Amino acid sequence: MPEPVLFNTLGRQLAPLDPVEPDLVRIYTCGPTVYNEVHIGNLRTFLFEDLLRRSLRHLGYRVVQVMNLTDVDDKTIQGAHRAGLSLADYTEPFIQSFWRDQDTLHMERPEHFPRATEHIPEIIELIARLIEREFAYESDGSVFFSIARDPDYGKLSGFDLAQVRRGERVANDEYGKDDVRDFALWKAVKPGEPAWDSPWGPGRPGWHVECSAMSMKYLGPTFDLHCGGVDLIFPHHENEIAQSESATGLPFVRHWVHSEHLIVDGQKMSKSLGNQHTLKDLLDRGYTARAVRYLFLSVHYRQKLNFTFESLEGAAGALRRVDEMRFRLAHAQEGGEPDARLAEAAGRLKADFTAALADDLNAAAALAALFVFVKEVNVAIEERRIGTGDRDRVAAALADADQVLDVLDPAAWPDAAAPADDDAAEDAVAEIERLVQARQDARKRRDFAEGDRIRDELAARGIVLEDTPQGTRWKRR
Ligand SMILES: [Zn+2]
Repeated sequence: MPEPVLFNTLGRQLAPLDPVEPDLVRIYTCGPTVYNEVHIGNLRTFLFEDLLRRSLRHLGYRVVQVMNLTDVDDKTIQGAHRAGLSLADYTEPFIQSFWRDQDTLHMERPEHFPRATEHIPEIIELIARLIEREFAYESDGSVFFSIARDPDYGKLSGFDLAQVRRGERVANDEYGKDDVRDFALWKAVKPGEPAWDSPWGPGRPGWHVECSAMSMKYLGPTFDLHCGGVDLIFPHHENEIAQSESATGLPFVRHWVHSEHLIVDGQKMSKSLGNQHTLKDLLDRGYTARAVRYLFLSVHYRQKLNFTFESLEGAAGALRRVDEMRFRLAHAQEGGEPDARLAEAAGRLKADFTAALADDLNAAAALAALFVFVKEVNVAIEERRIGTGDRDRVAAALADADQVLDVLDPAAWPDAAAPADDDAAEDAVAEIERLVQARQDARKRRDFAEGDRIRDELAARGIVLEDTPQGTRWKRR
């Protein structure tokens, strides 16, 4: 197996994966704040993390992944207050819809998905340790992290503290800080807000400290990978490092991996532009979750993903090419010696696919390897080289790649093609094959006018023919 290399935001360079335990990768991923339906920008990050865990397993590692659910912060508290609900009643439907989206897109569940509200004791313990080590101080029932005590601060983001001047105006809720740059670990209760008891009086945790406490509880003081969208690098992840390393005196995370933004039609997603789509919006428009998954996997995680409806159609088209190959293979004549070229193509797919994933999760290159294989199989079908066992060999090669991609098997996607649609797609392929055969028959009879007529009919349907010594190949334009 090739040794995986991933871009490390800490140090800003490609670096070999270097897990604490050689064959086990411990991953922490910042989960959703459960105050609304997640949009496709969030889903891009979660799909990248699904690709990451599946790729690592494909490369021979065991994986333990933690994804937290932020169920207490300003947004959830405000939302619950406005709705007149308890925090738990308010967040529960959003948690459920989050899991529904995850399932719809075939994302694997992390091994642990802790909620902040269920880890208040661990959070309090971490804050107490930071006070004891003099990295944090209490003020009017709140606790703040003292950035001046942490010379390392800024090492992840390159953030220059000198840029933030002391004495700048302090936000209301952070009243009482010694230094404007300090951030809250514990926030004293305000009227009408949910609160937990603590050594500093009733209050609630800050967002950043939730992730430090929960990641170290499940993964240990030093673990392998920490992921999220690039928007979390500062201040969230910078603050996580500050809290965790100040509390333990140990390196917190070996490898920081961040996925780029998703933009829509070249523009930033925003409520005001009306382009903040949810998965449900796309499904309501008739697109399939399968195409969404394919599209999101096909763009390298460190590149901006420019979402357009045309790109989603392109993804559906790419999947159709795989489905058609499967269909033709299922109906091809099989017999005789297994085909050596096909066996070689299957071996090359496996090697190239794996190497691409090990190379900083280059899913685009992995998909390119897949389509080279699809083409090879189509050629083998057209040249009638499908020997005994070749069908199984092709199916096994696709299934192996699909352990990571999980988009190649249409039968696994009930929403992707209702049975009726599936039949229609198969009928369409059968009709094309019938016409290609009829044209060949006409040409054998030297009825070239009829042959040309059929060629034009196929061209009108977007089918391009290529005559070779072994027979006629067809493909979609
Ligand atoms: Zn986090």
